[in-house]
Amino acid sequence: MLKDIIELDKKYYMNTFGDRLPVCFERGKGLKLYADNGDVYYDFLGGIAVNALGHSHPDFIDALKKQLDKLIHTSSLYYIENQAKLAQKLVENTCADKAFFCNSGAEANEAAFKLAKIYFYKKGEDRYEIISLDHSFHGRTLATVAATGQKHYQDPYRPLTPGFKQVAPNSFDALKSAVTDKTAAIMIELVQGESGVHPMDKEYAEKVRELCNEKGILLIVDEVQTGMGRLGKLFAHQLYGIEPDIFTCAKALGGGVPIGAMCAKADVASAFEPGDHGTTFGGNPLATAAGLAVFDIYEKENLVENSAEVGKYLKDKLLKTAEKYPEKIVEIRSMGLLIGIELKPEFAGPVFNRLFERKILTSLCKGVTIRIAPPLIITKEEADIFVNELDGVLAEL
Ligand SMILES: *Cc1c(COP(=O)(O)O)cnc(C)c1O
Repeated sequence: MLKDIIELDKKYYMNTFGDRLPVCFERGKGLKLYADNGDVYYDFLGGIAVNALGHSHPDFIDALKKQLDKLIHTSSLYYIENQAKLAQKLVENTCADKAFFCNSGAEANEAAFKLAKIYFYKKGEDRYEIISLDHSFHGRTLATVAATGQKHYQDPYRPLTPGFKQVAPNSFDALKSAVTDKTAAIMIELVQGESGVHPMDKEYAEKVRELCNEKGILLIVDEVQTGMGRLGKLFAHQLYGIEPDIFTCAKALGGGVPIGAMCAKADVASAFEPGDHGTTFGGNPLATAAGLAVFDIYEKENLVENSAEVGKYLKDKLLKTAEKYPEKIVEIRSMGLLIGIELKPEFAGPVFNRLFERKILTSLCKGVTIRIAPPLIITKEEADIFVNELDGVLAEL
């Protein structure tokens, strides 16, 4: 019973998540999630951009079961076939030459910071500064909090890890004037997800790349949320037409099994030599079997193309909704299946709550933007469910 679960949670689990939404899911199938009381929800948030294959995808479950019967974990002391093969997938489908696996987005970003720093250390250059953007989100570890340009995530943990600073997003001048001869890397999200789906301009991204080339600075793109087909290309940097020196990825990579990856160009990657970095769990046989199955299913079902197609379909429909409710909707910001619907502040909370009452799962960013990041298996018919329910809610408010 939900009531008992809440009681247990309140008694034993640390209060980092406060009052959660009053539901506990027991199983899922595709976009549907089934609560323990039999209620059926539509998951348009996809576990925050994680469940790209939806829930209980049969081929995915098969692949995991096969791996479970064979081996879960060995150690990085030994060769791991799935790990090598998943690294190959990431490299063959991107501009990167090497990959490293870990267990989360924050950990992938930590690995990126370490690689950037050791790269200059081994070149004998005194560069250690990392510039990132205001309103960004890079994770919850100490270094990723120092890179996350949001005061409320940083303030309780001061003094922050030194060497990090943030500048206004999408402002090339701000970035350029923050660069010093100590700057090692610039880390950006091409679309800021957590703050409510804020895309960078293409021209800005191109100029950042040029600036990095000019000054010998490494460009790190955080693709933890935008990666794995979310925006309608496998990675956001491919959509923007720029090549990062390092990019990170996690959320959708394991289809729900925890895994992160840090990928880099050969000359940068070679700065990591034996002993310079490591992990116990990262890229273990089970996690990398999950990643391989994700790639397999993406290819078989053309899920990246589907993300672009249904994403465009949803955008067109939502733009019409915005025209219909100009006094309630401020703006639609979307690329592929990462979609933000910014509302007038007085409507945002109520819209989010009423969608939930109608069994539609979304997230509310900064109190004003409804964000959805549905599974990449979503059909146009399922997309219509969201559009219709949103319309229903807006009509009654
Ligand atoms: C979610 C997210 C992270 C952190 O990932 P965790 O797996 O929670 O550590 C980092 N960067 C971006 C852009 C994210 O969306």
